Amino acid sequence: MKIRTGLGFDVHRLVEGRPCILGGVELPHHRGPDGHSDGDAVLHAICDALLGAAGLDDLGTRFPDTDPAWKGADSANLLRASVAAINEAGWKVGNVDVVIATEGPRIAPHRAQMRARVAELLGVDADAVNIKGKTLEGLGALADGAGVAVGANCLLERL
Ligand code: MG
Repeated sequence: MKIRTGLGFDVHRLVEGRPCILGGVELPHHRGPDGHSDGDAVLHAICDALLGAAGLDDLGTRFPDTDPAWKGADSANLLRASVAAINEAGWKVGNVDVVIATEGPRIAPHRAQMRARVAELLGVDADAVNIKGKTLEGLGALADGAGVAVGANCLLERL
């Protein structure tokens, strides 16, 4: 097998008093993702897509939120560690595609910066990373801006 695909998904509550870090970029918003780490649901979903494609344990298993070592962790480090793990397993990143569903922070004005940052962390060109925002049409518990849900898909190629 020369290529494999992976799927990742993550949800975080958006709460007052937390920086709004998504896709490795701090967004200007009054609420930020709650979590044991910095709560960056975009990077977490990408990690799980990569690890899943390589057939490795998921993010929560590798970096448990019961482990004080990861309290307040910069999720960029979790993504770097996930890339190292898939490299070690003989895979490299082909491309990553991400959908961010939220009615909290606006995504569109920050897409280019997020793509560049994620690409830098993955060690790929920015055109190998796509990120887009979706609103929720006023439906469900996320629709009042109380949370963010992220889906990520990736392609891995044999090293
Ligand atoms: Mg998470």
